[in-house]
Amino acid sequence: MTTALITGANKGIGYETARQLAARGITVLVAARDKDLGQAAAGKLKAEGAQAHFVQLDVTDEDSIARAATWIDAEFGSLDILINNAGIGGFVDGDNKPSSTTLATLRKVYETNVFGVVAVTNAVLPLLRRAPAARIVNVSSEVGSIALMTDPESPMWPMAAIPYPSSKTALNMITAMYAKELWDTPIKVNAANPGYTATDLNGNTGFRTPTQGAEPSVHLATLPADGPSGQLWGHHMVGDVEYGPLPW
Ligand code: NAP
Repeated sequence: MTTALITGANKGIGYETARQLAARGITVLVAARDKDLGQAAAGKLKAEGAQAHFVQLDVTDEDSIARAATWIDAEFGSLDILINNAGIGGFVDGDNKPSSTTLATLRKVYETNVFGVVAVTNAVLPLLRRAPAARIVNVSSEVGSIALMTDPESPMWPMAAIPYPSSKTALNMITAMYAKELWDTPIKVNAANPGYTATDLNGNTGFRTPTQGAEPSVHLATLPADGPSGQLWGHHMVGDVEYGPLPW
């Protein structure tokens, strides 16, 4: 049995990721901070024939993370795939420029998008090490790419905000550092770029569907033994390539 833990799986890209992994025969652990929403999502997947289990997990609550890890250990004894998908955006101070940014906003966004990823990863890493060849996917963004955000030719050039973009930049470095630590193990660690996707995170303004947004996460979660580790990979906003590695 192959197991995958997906955080923030009750809706959006996380739910679609769970659905696509389940369609490949993977047992999905549908993690959500809200019990009712999580149970409803797992129930919907089960109704479609998935092996799905709800697990309560708030990535900012270390007790809930520890409880989830203990439950996975007791039920399955190991974990094959971790998808750190839970994330928040949308906290905007004033005109959202660096000079308007408050530390309260920064701390809020980092608690989920940065600290939450390290907390969850470290809690389940012993379980991932017990799997034959685990995969860790951190759901990042092209707006975390310093190279793309500072390129005047890039569509991201007009954006000058700190909280969400810099949280994903931190997540990119975190991804690269876990990949280095685990380099001589079968575990691969990569960051996924879903591309601009219509979800609640952006008031459903994205031009990709959640089904498309989930594809990079599913690809990186199911990489073969000779696949890469330590990459930002996913949708490209411009150019001829639809999918591929992106610059950090
Ligand atoms: P979404 O529909 O708003 O889903 C976000 C998910 O994260 C929800 O399930 C939410 O749970 C969960 N979440 C938030 N805080 C949490 C916490 N403290 N503990 C556990 N779960 C928490 O947004 P989405 O677009 O699918 O976002 C998924 C990931 O994709 C995020 O990491 C986001 O940054 C990334 N991403 C999105 C886009 C895009 O264009 N949409 C582009 C690039 C990257 P609740 O329902 O309880 O709030």
